[in-house]
Amino acid sequence: MADRKTRIVMKFGGTSVADLDRIRNVAARVKREVAAGNEVAVVVSAMAGVTNQLVKYCQDLSPLHDQREYDAVVATGEQVTSGLTAIALQEIGVSARSYQGWQIPLRTDDQHGKARIESVDGATLIAAMQASIVPVVAGFQGVGPDDRVATLGRGGSDTSAVALAAALKADRCDIYTDVDGIYTTDPRVVPKARKIARVAYEEMLELASVGAKVLQTRSVELAMKMRVRVQVLSSFASDNILGGDLPGSLVVDEDEIVEQEIVSGIAYSRDEAKITVRHIPDRPGVAAAIFGPLSAAGVNVDMIVQNIGADTSSTDLTFTIGKTDLPRAKAVLGEHQEKIGFAELVADADVAKISVVGVGMRSHAGVANTMFTALAAKGINIQVISTSEIKVSVLIGADYTELAVRALHTAYGLDAA
Ligand code: ADP
Ligand code: ASP
Ligand code: MG
Repeated sequence: MADRKTRIVMKFGGTSVADLDRIRNVAARVKREVAAGNEVAVVVSAMAGVTNQLVKYCQDLSPLHDQREYDAVVATGEQVTSGLTAIALQEIGVSARSYQGWQIPLRTDDQHGKARIESVDGATLIAAMQASIVPVVAGFQGVGPDDRVATLGRGGSDTSAVALAAALKADRCDIYTDVDGIYTTDPRVVPKARKIARVAYEEMLELASVGAKVLQTRSVELAMKMRVRVQVLSSFASDNILGGDLPGSLVVDEDEIVEQEIVSGIAYSRDEAKITVRHIPDRPGVAAAIFGPLSAAGVNVDMIVQNIGADTSSTDLTFTIGKTDLPRAKAVLGEHQEKIGFAELVADADVAKISVVGVGMRSHAGVANTMFTALAAKGINIQVISTSEIKVSVLIGADYTELAVRALHTAYGLDAA
């Protein structure tokens, strides 16, 4: 049997394709991998800022816009960069062509705006690569069961890349971005953050799910399930190095990690909003009456706390949802006010969720208490708390985000020397 070439999926995020010079830089990187004898498929995001602008257009026209039309709008950012990147490659002598989600096809479920990938047909792209054509795939998009374009949720190009890597049986999935790896926390917030050379799938999954945007949560979920080797690399690193030699971060199995910290990372998210439903009757079925309609409307609920009211007949329920779902959630709860029987709904979008994550928490006590003590020392009030086996999260006022992340990074001994 002839030796199979090393097959690599190279994904480039928004800042890596932010302008024509950067697209030329991407093309040069791709050309180097091809020249080294590898088979390459490329996945691109929209130019930095473009998706935000497109989302805003939809929101400004209508806060409760049709999600299928939202997808038709926001998927265009990636169509532009896939074509431009193919042109840039052709310009330096590399055969290339762009592919939109429907042309592969990459099929999704019907959850427009945050669709999940259901299947990816690798045949077309494999045939292209074997004919020495570099496929440049528009990330973030697929085609739904209604044959309409569907997007994969913000940051979804990472998931496109991992899904393609699985479908193409790629040897590696290289995620090129504007930082040179996965850090103990966002290096833009904490300059003393340390790069983690190897991070366990499970930890990265938890970190991503609580806000570490360096990888979209679903991309990590999929990588873990399909055993895809994911590397996070800088697209701005010195020019002549191949992806295999770049000093990025690798997402691996827990047992591939020799020394495990108790807390491996800290993440924050300003993407949630808090809703308090006041004076609801304290009886069975009320939580179901609130969360049932929200779930039916596709609104995901994250943290939940039920307070004991001053008198025993009524209570308050506080929970968090994605900020972008706030108009929808308010509308749904408004419609059901009588049935639920609440007196008042208070929404607060000025909150941040701060989380500490580490598999070492399973076997060490006191992790949560270190968090509460460090926040108290800075005078930061905790509004809601939630925990899992390897994570503790708190909701605080958004103004305290940086202060809290820095204080916790120091408190858990994560600061670089
Ligand atoms: P791209 O457009 O390339 O997908 P993103 O902005 O989605 O890039 O993700 C990269 C950003 O993730 C970095 O610029 C950094 O600010 C942020 N980030 C948050 N948490 C982390 C972390 N733990 N390690 C590295 N980067 C992080
Ligand atoms: N362009 C999309 C976004 O900004 C997808 C991505 O960048 O991964 O969310
Ligand atoms: Mg991203």
